Amino acid sequence: MLYNQIQEAKGNIRVFCRCRPLRNEEMQSGFATVADFNAANDGELGILSGGLTKKIFRFDRVYTPQDGQVNVFADASPMVVSVLDGYNVCIFAYGQTGTGKTFTMEGSEQNRGVNYRTLEQLFKISEERKETFTYNISISVLEVYNEQIRDLLATSPTSKKLEIRQAPEGAHHVPGIVEAKVGNIKEVWSVLQAGSNARAVGSNNVNEYSSRSHCMLCIMVKTKNLITEECTKSKLWLVDLAGSERLAKTEVQGERLKEAQNINRSLSALGDVISALASKSSHIPYRNSKLTHLLQDSLGGDSKTLMFVQISPLEQDLGETLSSLNFATRVR
Ligand code: ADP
Ligand code: MG
Repeated sequence: MLYNQIQEAKGNIRVFCRCRPLRNEEMQSGFATVADFNAANDGELGILSGGLTKKIFRFDRVYTPQDGQVNVFADASPMVVSVLDGYNVCIFAYGQTGTGKTFTMEGSEQNRGVNYRTLEQLFKISEERKETFTYNISISVLEVYNEQIRDLLATSPTSKKLEIRQAPEGAHHVPGIVEAKVGNIKEVWSVLQAGSNARAVGSNNVNEYSSRSHCMLCIMVKTKNLITEECTKSKLWLVDLAGSERLAKTEVQGERLKEAQNINRSLSALGDVISALASKSSHIPYRNSKLTHLLQDSLGGDSKTLMFVQISPLEQDLGETLSSLNFATRVR
């Protein structure tokens, strides 16, 4: 309750900043770092940007590299739970490739991330509320690559192009996409794995490929209040965005140029939508990219948005780090 009141007072967009730890070999070779977490508890991140200058960025949360998945999810949890109260929610991870977007959202079997923990939490709460509500939960997993939608749960390949449609009551959906009904947490991991494995198909370097596409998990919740018999639908998007880095000019030709342009276009469309929402603009440009068009129901209105801005602690990444932090500051 208190959390919702705070939300209303501050608007519906939160930004949490997470910095990846140094790798062993980086630690051993004594790489220079630029991130200062002295005031992380107060939501302040210091960035040493040359000489003695320290830039201060303020976010709703600033995690140190030692903060684990449990800490991070504890802060995101009130927001994900609100999907059970009928809110649409969107959580996404933004940042340069290698800064931990996939670690935060997907994690690993030993170190599960937001996606799995969210579903675990939803099942837990729906069990607690079963006297009063029934919840029907299904998930879709899709990818947007070069402005094309691919269904990662489809079992047979289809040549039909997936498009976004708006239902008469206003909700956006993708006709023909698989919506896997999940009844309990045990069923979830295998569905998520199937989605994750499907990403690899047709590419010889999975990591490299996945850093150039947006991976999107949609959790759809149908709620029935057993006392009033009222039914509602809401959805929660969990998005691992394509890497935000600019490619070196020399690298960018042919297919890579097209990819880079599509990534820039969709990430800046996302920034434009969120800053239009933040400034209460009358026109919100959702249709400028597949990404924002898909997320439309969960960005704006009374929906709740959480952005993880992911950064690297290394001096050599300073340019990209500043650009991500500026993006995150712009959307707040
Ligand atoms: P991205 O998806 O942004 O390209 P990854 O999630 O693949 O980045 O992270 C790059 C590497 O750093 C991976 O090996 C990941 O396990 C590790 N890593 C990232 N963030 C953390 C963290 N907070 N704690 C431990 N390891 C991390
Ligand atoms: Mg990744």
